[in-house]
Amino acid sequence: MEYDVIIGMETHVELDTHSKMFCTCSAQWFGAEPNVHVCPTCAGMPGALPVINRRAVEFSMMLGVALNCSINQHTFWERKSYWYPDLPKGYQITQYQYPMCYDGYLEFDVRDLSGGWNEQSYRKRVRIRRAHLEEDTGKLTHAGRSSYVDYNRSGVPLLEIVTEPDIFNAHEAYAYLSALQDIVRYLGISTGDMEKGAMRCEPNMSLRPKGTDAFGTKVEIKNLNSLSAVRGAIAYEIKRQSAALDKGEKIRQVTLGWDDVRGVTVMQREKEDAHDYRYFPEPDLPPLDVSDDWLALVRASVPELPIAKQARYQNEFGLSAYDAVQLTTNRDVAKWFETGIKALNDEKAVHALAKRFANFVIGDLTRLMNASGLQIEQIKITPAQLAGLVKLVEVQTINSSTAKLVLEEMFGSGADANAIVQAKGLAQVSDSSVLEKAVEDVLAANPKEVDNYLKGNEKLLQFLVGQTMKASKGKANPQMIQGLMKAALEKRR
Ligand SMILES: [Zn+2]
Repeated sequence: MEYDVIIGMETHVELDTHSKMFCTCSAQWFGAEPNVHVCPTCAGMPGALPVINRRAVEFSMMLGVALNCSINQHTFWERKSYWYPDLPKGYQITQYQYPMCYDGYLEFDVRDLSGGWNEQSYRKRVRIRRAHLEEDTGKLTHAGRSSYVDYNRSGVPLLEIVTEPDIFNAHEAYAYLSALQDIVRYLGISTGDMEKGAMRCEPNMSLRPKGTDAFGTKVEIKNLNSLSAVRGAIAYEIKRQSAALDKGEKIRQVTLGWDDVRGVTVMQREKEDAHDYRYFPEPDLPPLDVSDDWLALVRASVPELPIAKQARYQNEFGLSAYDAVQLTTNRDVAKWFETGIKALNDEKAVHALAKRFANFVIGDLTRLMNASGLQIEQIKITPAQLAGLVKLVEVQTINSSTAKLVLEEMFGSGADANAIVQAKGLAQVSDSSVLEKAVEDVLAANPKEVDNYLKGNEKLLQFLVGQTMKASKGKANPQMIQGLMKAALEKRR
């Protein structure tokens, strides 16, 4: 039978603030020695008083604006009571009745596996039900018969983003999370690093026979720590549940984990009845009021987001959708690209030059950065310098294979393209008398190939052109050599 798959996503994003949500301890817990960022407040000592982290409130509003949400300007904090060893107070301070942000949506593109755009690609909108601000718990580690608790993470600001059940397959779930990750990084509000626990997601999903209305039994998948784990776990569950339903089995309402090594989901626990968390207003904190002015400042601080940038790059610079995505996924790369485009400063040929510039960034520059492990803000070469190189190619001072070599030099030394071309004598030779002589020399040195060419093996033209380019150390103008070589051979017929 065919089934409809319905997925909702809960994502926890740790906000990258200096201090924790309600105390001045450092929020940078990852990699720190256990229990060094702890004070009476985040250790849950009786009588310790919380104070609201203003920056965390701002960060959560920024995400709300980016996700097209309404912002609750009047909200208050509530205690969610439950006991667990990683929760020393016995309750978590959160927003329940009035989340910081509500009723928004995220629009993104669902692409093929390599990130490219094909006939199956489409734009998707997932509604955001709410995003509320709360504090993270501590972290438990289990070893043998012992368990250890680390309170460094206790009280780190956490934003929980809940979608409506608008996601219909593993691919869409992956694309949604990856778009959300790009946005939190663009906003600079979180590292979004899933493998470091800064972004954690829990899909809940159910299947029902295609075309029916009643929801099937919901299962939850916990503790997924990479985008590919999300895709893998959902795809696996769709297969498992379809097979079970086909056999007439009932799906049990359970919480599942994901075994990345074996590529299977594993039962963690049967779903207990809904907890009564006994929410009530936090008596130690005042209500949170956001003034119109403050909200306006936050709105103004939200930068142009990836999807808007992609559309603009396609319209303004004539780039392909694929190139636009490559250039906008990382905010620093986009900024670097835009600075370079400004430096090109050529209105008439803006499309051709921008395309050439984009190719260098996506191709050779990215390759050099990957090989050296450098980020774009760390490299020696500036956007204006790359623009200089692009112009040298454009006016045919150098050809594109020489440009690759020049770029490598620039990447290593930070020197200008022009200086390198001058110092190494790399300027392209377009003097036809010089090139004609080079062609004649190659013909004289390869009589057998010339003979075979004239007998009909026309592939040898490229060989002879290649020999001439080699003899010129790559400096000859390749289009001219092609023409001269062909003419010289025809003369011998
Ligand atoms: Zn603290």
